[in-house]
Amino acid sequence: MNFFKETDIVVIGGGIVGTAILRELSKYSLRSLLVEKEPDVSTGTTKANSAVCHAGFDAPTGSWKQKTNVRGNALYHQLQEELNLDIKWTGSLVVATSEEEVQQLQVLLERGKANGVPGLQIITKEEVLEKEPNLTTALAAMWAPTAGVVWPFGCAVAFAQCAVQNGAEVICDCAVTGFVKENNAVTIVNTTKGAIRTKCVINAAGIYAEEIAKLAGDDSFTITPRKGEYILFDKTAASSLVYGVVFPCPTEKSKGILVCTTTHGNTFIGPNANEQFSKEDTSVTSAGMDEIIAGARKLVPNLPMGACITEFAGLRAASDTGDFILGASKVPGFFNAAGIQSPGIAAAPAIAEVVVKAIGKEMYLRKKDNWNGRLPKKTAFNRMTSAEKQKAIQDNSLYGRVICRCETVTEGEIVDAIRQPVGARTVDGVKRRTRAGMGRCQGGFCGPRVTQILARELGIPVEKVLKERPGSELYFKKFEE
Ligand SMILES: Cc1cc2nc3c(=O)[nH]c(=O)nc-3n(C[C@H](O)[C@H](O)[C@H](O)COP(=O)(O)OP(=O)(O)OC[C@H]3O[C@@H](n4cnc5c(N)ncnc54)[C@H](O)[C@@H]3O)c2cc1C
Repeated sequence: MNFFKETDIVVIGGGIVGTAILRELSKYSLRSLLVEKEPDVSTGTTKANSAVCHAGFDAPTGSWKQKTNVRGNALYHQLQEELNLDIKWTGSLVVATSEEEVQQLQVLLERGKANGVPGLQIITKEEVLEKEPNLTTALAAMWAPTAGVVWPFGCAVAFAQCAVQNGAEVICDCAVTGFVKENNAVTIVNTTKGAIRTKCVINAAGIYAEEIAKLAGDDSFTITPRKGEYILFDKTAASSLVYGVVFPCPTEKSKGILVCTTTHGNTFIGPNANEQFSKEDTSVTSAGMDEIIAGARKLVPNLPMGACITEFAGLRAASDTGDFILGASKVPGFFNAAGIQSPGIAAAPAIAEVVVKAIGKEMYLRKKDNWNGRLPKKTAFNRMTSAEKQKAIQDNSLYGRVICRCETVTEGEIVDAIRQPVGARTVDGVKRRTRAGMGRCQGGFCGPRVTQILARELGIPVEKVLKERPGSELYFKKFEE
């Protein structure tokens, strides 16, 4: 049999979990590769979520969710510097707006302490208003100083880049279609690009983890998509909303509809939590919009709805076990990082440690002497000082050409994002790496220019450039004429 690739470990799925695992694997002397069915990493649930690096008080004590959240939060403090991750350590508030909820805060505080979350504190209405003046309905709140907001796509890309820099491989447009077993162990992964011979497989396929596990003979869990919808506001609205991360008291199903300002200063409200059958449907609904507006108004009564710039939705991978499913399965050579419903962003670096440790129990892993956990330092053009901007333009004149006016993203940054390891191949891939198209006009101005740059850099016609997935071409031949 001819193999498209031969390797030691295949990671399935290029979300934040798969990329964090690949980075962790790259610390060891073995061949590891990640396959992703879409043209880019970070196109699944990792691209549409609240992006909160939770402190860790929410999950049941002793669960994988709790352990990996608390450890993941601590790891991000270190990774931020090593990988230039965009993280704002804002702290978070859980706000009580009724006497009953004030009692609930106490329960959260006790659980948080049992979970090992540092610095938790119940604060008064006055103290809440000092931190967040628009939370006029608050009676009290629980303050968690170690929480923050992250740039989740940036994290996934950085994890993948760090892994590649250390010899791992990322193959996009490569969907897993089945497995071949020898002596009951998975040894061949069939993909749309060909067969891969391997010693071990890690299933980090997000909402499709159930299907992947079943293909390998592991039917021990199911995954149900649970949709969460959002409304995103223009940066100008932040001052009438919140500075950091503000939760209501949680419900049985979710952490509730929050009001939160992202790493780049846009505030969003959401998400709701509704189970659905489809694993593809990320549409937003008018009922959903009404639900999140009503939820957010309980925290901030005067929402500036005229400043809304977009809506979006993401799908949580809710497992029937209620917890993350991590480690060895009943199929030899097949490991799961599945059911990563939430807090998968906060937990990803710790999930990676757990999964790689589990593999270490079944195969010999030797640490590399020359592993490099740092990525080159980089500052976005719009965050540079005037002197830095001048120098960047002198070094590369493409930095003098602004392509995205809303976010001040230059052609130099877009070209770098395409040429870098695990580079952008689509318009949305450029957006996730540079923020071109994430501002007020949502790509209305820069979209065609980004498309032309992609076509030039990738050596393909403009009408072949994808927005995101296959079939999402933006232009027909007429564009060129
Ligand atoms: C509404 C909402 C709010 C959330 N808020 C937070 C939060 O504030 N903080 C937090 O920590 N977490 C949050 N989460 C959870 C977090 O987003 C997820 O836990 C995390 O993104 C899961 O990452 P993943 O890598 O497991 O999955 P994904 O990002 O979905 O990655 C899985 C990848 O597998 C690929 N794949 C699937 N099938 C195949 C195949 N056959 N072959 C190859 N590749 C395949 C997919 O294309 C996808 O790229 C939230 C989630 C949602 C939906």
